[in-house]
Amino acid sequence: RVVLVSTELIELAGVQCTLSIINDITERKRMEDEFISLVSHELRTPMNSIIGALDLLGTQKLGTLTELGQQTINIATNNMERLIRLVNDILDLERIKSGKIAMRYVECQADKLLIEATQAMQAMADSAQVNLSVEPTPVQIHADPDRILQTLTNLLSNAIKFSEPGETVSLRSSLNCEYLQIEVQDRGRGIPQDKLQLIFERFQQVDASDSRAKGGTGLGLPICRTIVEQHNGRIWVESSLGEGSTFYVRLPVDEGLGTGD
Ligand code: ADP
Repeated sequence: RVVLVSTELIELAGVQCTLSIINDITERKRMEDEFISLVSHELRTPMNSIIGALDLLGTQKLGTLTELGQQTINIATNNMERLIRLVNDILDLERIKSGKIAMRYVECQADKLLIEATQAMQAMADSAQVNLSVEPTPVQIHADPDRILQTLTNLLSNAIKFSEPGETVSLRSSLNCEYLQIEVQDRGRGIPQDKLQLIFERFQQVDASDSRAKGGTGLGLPICRTIVEQHNGRIWVESSLGEGSTFYVRLPVDEGLGTGD
């Protein structure tokens, strides 16, 4: 809990008094999160109605469109889809962080999750002409499989987005007695050293054009971090500019669960 106290000297009825202003940053941050979440929630209904209307127009159910008309509808649809992704990510982050979405921990095979994540991202890799490779270690973990899958697909999606055609994105895991270490490695543009921690914060992107050019929201990594930390794990990145990045996820392996062979 971070509390800032500022003290001011004031004169009250001729008597000098000190007025202490307690500024509870944690409370302010909580109210800010709640406000963002409320606004995002309220935005969802009108946004869905707009996307429905654009779909009706775009599929020419309301009449034939000129080529320019069709292009305009496509641009509007793309932007609405970005907005919906942003709002969904904001809500997701707030709900996971506040515990409104509880983790559903079960014993699961981490290697199967790695394979499932690669399969889910194969189409995106194909269209970006990026090779995907997976080397999973068979091990059982106590985790929420949907949320771990969400973390892995988020990291893979970034790795693919920031890779050039012909490059390879690798998903690996290795087992230590206390934890499972998952690595997502790309040979893309890399991340500057001063941004390595910052990108795990809300709305932080290396380049201001990333959200427009790559369709991102700047919320993927904060969501990954929240999920991993709720699993008592750790997430970080190592990177060299122009050579690529490796994102690491460490998840504790419960004693007695052992390998899933
Ligand atoms: P976004 O939706 O923008 O991808 P993220 O929180 O997932 O949001 O990532 C934040 C920013 O971190 C990205 O916009 C990008 O600038 C940088 N980034 C993330 N992953 C990579 C990567 N593999 N290579 C280069 N930059 C990356």
